[in-house]
Amino acid sequence: MTKEIKHAERAHALLSASASSRWLNCTPSVRLEEQFPDSTTTYAEEGTLAHEIAELKLRKYYTEPMSQRTFNTRLNKMKKHELFQDEMLKHTDSYLEYLQGITIPMASVPYVAVEKRIDYSDYAPEGFGTVDCLIISGNTLYVNDFKYGKGVAVSAERNTQMMLYALGALTEYSFLYPIEKIHMSIVQPRLSSISEFEMTAAELLTWGESIKNIAQQAYAGVGDFVPGEHCKFCKAKAQCRARAEQYTALEDFKQMKPPLISNEEVGQILEKAIGLDAWVKALKDFALKESLKGSEIAGWKAVEGRGSRFYVNMDEAFAHLKNNGVDEALLYNREPLSVAEIEKVLKTEQYRTLLEEPGHVKKSPGKPTLVPLSDKRKPIAPPDAASDFK
Ligand code: SF4
Repeated sequence: MTKEIKHAERAHALLSASASSRWLNCTPSVRLEEQFPDSTTTYAEEGTLAHEIAELKLRKYYTEPMSQRTFNTRLNKMKKHELFQDEMLKHTDSYLEYLQGITIPMASVPYVAVEKRIDYSDYAPEGFGTVDCLIISGNTLYVNDFKYGKGVAVSAERNTQMMLYALGALTEYSFLYPIEKIHMSIVQPRLSSISEFEMTAAELLTWGESIKNIAQQAYAGVGDFVPGEHCKFCKAKAQCRARAEQYTALEDFKQMKPPLISNEEVGQILEKAIGLDAWVKALKDFALKESLKGSEIAGWKAVEGRGSRFYVNMDEAFAHLKNNGVDEALLYNREPLSVAEIEKVLKTEQYRTLLEEPGHVKKSPGKPTLVPLSDKRKPIAPPDAASDFK
């Protein structure tokens, strides 16, 4: 799955907020990407549709009171989309419920803007973007982002996409409202994830000043290529030389003399190798596309993979089997749904009341996993010597 792209019709800036973790870390990347065509995926289109449903619900509730009939007509139109799934209704409800949880307890009616285009070009040349939902109440600005993806939970903590949106909103609204606090949230209902982060307006403005030069470099396409986590969605991820050199540098370890590598070297190699799988996959995807186009990739070629069998018409095939004496019970599997699947078919509340609260569902501890030191989870304590002795 490639990056989730929100509303297809949304124009996007060269220095887009969603790609900011990339251009803030690797300034020449945006100009390098210009030579690659834009692409989209089914997942991105699915995300777009879910955003449209969420937008309709938010508009009805907050900014554009509409009759139930108008709402239903618009929603029914979206339901006809080939990518529509019932669960989109549940997940967009969860998002609206989260926002209601913020606004209902407010003492006075807040200012709410849905799908608000904001301009952060005071900080990044020609920078603008669209915020899913902005709320202002008292001295607090709320910047809310709805993500429909179910790949990785995204943290709001010092999230540069959210901070750029907040800077743009601050520029536009600070004349009208006494904003001192910024509350940022990323809601990912498919992962049951809500990440929130708060900072003062003063801290945000200091950060904004600190990125101005970097943004200028990114806009000009100058600076060093710096590979890292942010390469994941870069259009140059397969062919980028800096990224390739990061992994080919693994060859340095050949030079090391003792036959066994030390624990320190294991750590160094793992650090260099993080992302190696993703890089090899990007290289393979690129090489396959090139081979299919007829370009030569030294030592590699495209062949037809193993095909799979399918029923030409399953109903007819099964009827034929039954007519020929095959017992129907042999033709179907009846399997219980997994916990995740049950949660999907029940409403979250019903799932909790019927299964979690009476103790029908338990979570087993996860298998030990190796992660970099920067990971926030606590390390597993090694067994102490006394218990070893026992
Ligand atoms: S692949 Fe990584 S290092 Fe290369 S241009 Fe893109 S972000 Fe920069």
